[in-house]
Amino acid sequence: MEVEAAFAELSTSSTETGAYFLDDSYSDSELVIGLVGTIGTNLNEIARLINERLSKFNYTTESIKISTDIISTLGSPLSSTDEFGRISSFMEEGNNLRKNSKDNSILALGAAARINFLRGKQEALRRKAFIINSLKNPAEVQRLRKIYSNGFFLIGVHADHTRRHDYLTKEKSIPEEQASKLIDRDADERDDYGQHTKDTYHLSDFFIDYNGNSDSLKKQIWRVFDLLFGKPYVTPTFDEYAMFMAFSASLRSADLSRQVGAVLTKDRCIVSTGANDVPKAHGGLYWPEVDDVTQEIVDAKDGRDYMRGEDSNATQKKLIIDSILEVIPEEYKEKLKPLIKGSKIKDITEYGRVVHAEMEALLSSSRLGISTSGSDLYCTTFPCHNCAKHIVAAGIKRVVYVEPYPKSKALDFHSDSISLNQRSNNVVFAPFIGVGPRSFFNLFSTNLGSGYPVTRKSEDGQALDWNESDAKLRTQMLPC
Ligand SMILES: [Zn+2]
Repeated sequence: MEVEAAFAELSTSSTETGAYFLDDSYSDSELVIGLVGTIGTNLNEIARLINERLSKFNYTTESIKISTDIISTLGSPLSSTDEFGRISSFMEEGNNLRKNSKDNSILALGAAARINFLRGKQEALRRKAFIINSLKNPAEVQRLRKIYSNGFFLIGVHADHTRRHDYLTKEKSIPEEQASKLIDRDADERDDYGQHTKDTYHLSDFFIDYNGNSDSLKKQIWRVFDLLFGKPYVTPTFDEYAMFMAFSASLRSADLSRQVGAVLTKDRCIVSTGANDVPKAHGGLYWPEVDDVTQEIVDAKDGRDYMRGEDSNATQKKLIIDSILEVIPEEYKEKLKPLIKGSKIKDITEYGRVVHAEMEALLSSSRLGISTSGSDLYCTTFPCHNCAKHIVAAGIKRVVYVEPYPKSKALDFHSDSISLNQRSNNVVFAPFIGVGPRSFFNLFSTNLGSGYPVTRKSEDGQALDWNESDAKLRTQMLPC
């Protein structure tokens, strides 16, 4: 009683208000699901399957279409009679809204406002899922994660180029040339405020493969929701496990621009790992070490790039540009400078001091005397052309990646030895499918994630049953 009185003194409101949100008894949380897939991926079918699956968990769904619900409300896309014109005008108006508001997440804000509207006067709806179809800019994902925190999940849907092209030409009756135009435009537009579906896709919590097999598609979606609703017996596939290890390897990188990780596997064993960082004498990359005198954990002087205060690649690119400008007559210099800076020179990666993650994984294996021949390589990012040729030479048979890397010329330079076709005899580069590194820890750990702990057996040691009808969302989004 005394403690309760003390709490009351500390608090301006009753301690009972909202307490059930905190003690795991709340079980009717809302769920917000974003979809991302390059144009020509039938995301309506995915939304339909999600709706069907969620009904088993006693959830109802509400679909929010970014094009017709948000862009049409916030802006005024030109009306068009044909499908190509219709899609293009929505793309155009979406870009205008981002540009004019100077906020690349404006359409996500629109979706959040729509959710608020659908709630009416209530704070949060019980057992309601909102499906946002679809997201096209990384800022939209960041914004929704900020607003809904653990209640937001992004599902990335992969469909190969032929399937997407077929969908646009056959199902949507768009002429071939216009379909190709839409696919290219959607993936990666030049301006920041444009559509960057490729860069948005890899932020996903789950990666689904739309491979034309409807049973496979359905089962992939079922597994996602089984996991979200705490089914205790969903455990990682080897691909998911290896990719999480690659991601975890990336975290040790102190590179100034990006963190990349890779793992080399053979017969479903992790053979070695790699990250992108500066090599040190006698093998491997730098680690921070305890200083014997100060007891501080520090990096070697002049070792890693940040200790030198610069990225050597960026410095060398600047020197190249300066050397070109030097021979240009004075009157043209100012005009040509931004053009040269914006040219392909910016894509040069040649002069970096860091060993790439893929290469470090191969080299770690060789330092230990383990053959790389016939092994698989999991990389958080699509390999660059420099790594690609060494991957081919090392005898790797399959590379799995998450994030695209537009600067890579791997497929152009090595079309004779690298293929995206899974059935090819060449070295196969395959997109990652499954639970992404982002959600791996939270959903597969039985007791260290942000959701409730998962129990697998009863007190007398019997494996517990799990049913959709009384399952509860693992991480409840607190309405307060
Ligand atoms: Zn590389």
